[in-house]
Amino acid sequence: MIPFNKPTYLGNEIECLKKVLRNNKLSGDGEFTLLCNKWFEENIKCKKAFITTSCTHALEISAILADIKEGDEVIMPSFTFVSTANAFVLRRAKIVFVDIRPDTMNIDENLIESAITSKTKAIVVMHYAGIACEMDKILSIAGKYNLVVIEDAAHSIMAKYKNKFLGTIGDIGTFSFHETKNMICGEGGAIIINDGKYIERAEIIREKGTNRSKFYRGEVEKYTWIDIGSSYLPGELNAAYLFAQLENADKILNERMKSWKFYYENLKQIAEDKIIEISVIPKDCAHNAHIFFIKTKNITERKLLVEFLKTKDIMTVYHYIPLHSSAAGIIYGRFNGKDVYTTKESERLLRLPLFYGITSSEISYVCENIIDFYKR
Ligand SMILES: *Cc1c(COP(=O)(O)O)cnc(C)c1O
Repeated sequence: MIPFNKPTYLGNEIECLKKVLRNNKLSGDGEFTLLCNKWFEENIKCKKAFITTSCTHALEISAILADIKEGDEVIMPSFTFVSTANAFVLRRAKIVFVDIRPDTMNIDENLIESAITSKTKAIVVMHYAGIACEMDKILSIAGKYNLVVIEDAAHSIMAKYKNKFLGTIGDIGTFSFHETKNMICGEGGAIIINDGKYIERAEIIREKGTNRSKFYRGEVEKYTWIDIGSSYLPGELNAAYLFAQLENADKILNERMKSWKFYYENLKQIAEDKIIEISVIPKDCAHNAHIFFIKTKNITERKLLVEFLKTKDIMTVYHYIPLHSSAAGIIYGRFNGKDVYTTKESERLLRLPLFYGITSSEISYVCENIIDFYKR
């Protein structure tokens, strides 16, 4: 059986875990947490990074930092994970969904400006599959209307736009280390602060609204409650597991890129023959091989293909059910303009098995069966 995903595992994680156990210091902000934070600051070149309990939580911190209040509007794509929206709904914002581009599945930068009202506070972009949104245009719109830009970079660790790492381009960025992502620790995330004015408050919100971090650094005599916040810091075991993978970030990236390119080579012909569509990578984007997707003609063809591949023991998955048509999306959001591509393109998209350690013979087998399906 070829599963859709296998959580990344290198083998060196165990040594880092043992070190935590030997030190018997399991709560947050220990040695490995600080190593992880530093890894981000040095390797993706951001002002400040804090690892968190999840990307969902990193997005929640972002919504507080952006000072989102009842009645504020936040612009985002409808083709994204629920957490992108939920974090802002929890602060009582109205979500304004904008259509996506069919080539990258990312928010269509040319439709953002017409969704802006006097209530708009922030633009949240999500770089699907580690392929960047058109950030130059988005930052210029945000500048013109004084909006906060938050990058949901859950898919996008190590991916770049015009040679800048995703997650470091907007005011705030977020990553996920859920076991379905490129680098993992089971459940985990990070918040990346690029606008220095948010650093101090981010640290406080993440520590239950206290200045405990300052206390530990000896900057205050006792620590106390000074802001809203929650327990957004992960334990050291998670941090240790993550650090073992961060140290091998290039190895993981190169492996995945090799697999992604092998899919591309194998499926190029049927894409050129217009039987399926495959990813288009815009010239300014260096992606990170998080996802290899194809697009079928329509939802019916996708269903048949999924079932056919299942009979060959190949597991494939799709996502997302557009947020604006989901039960909560109807209550908390509205779609600005026409849904030309969001629903239609999401119904055609199919993700193929891709994980650290997938073999070229497994990829060949998947591709042969896809080609076979279309021959029948
Ligand atoms: C996985 C994912 C999240 C949530 O990440 P968690 O770490 O599981 O909270 C948020 N946004 C996107 C786009 C994701 O793919």
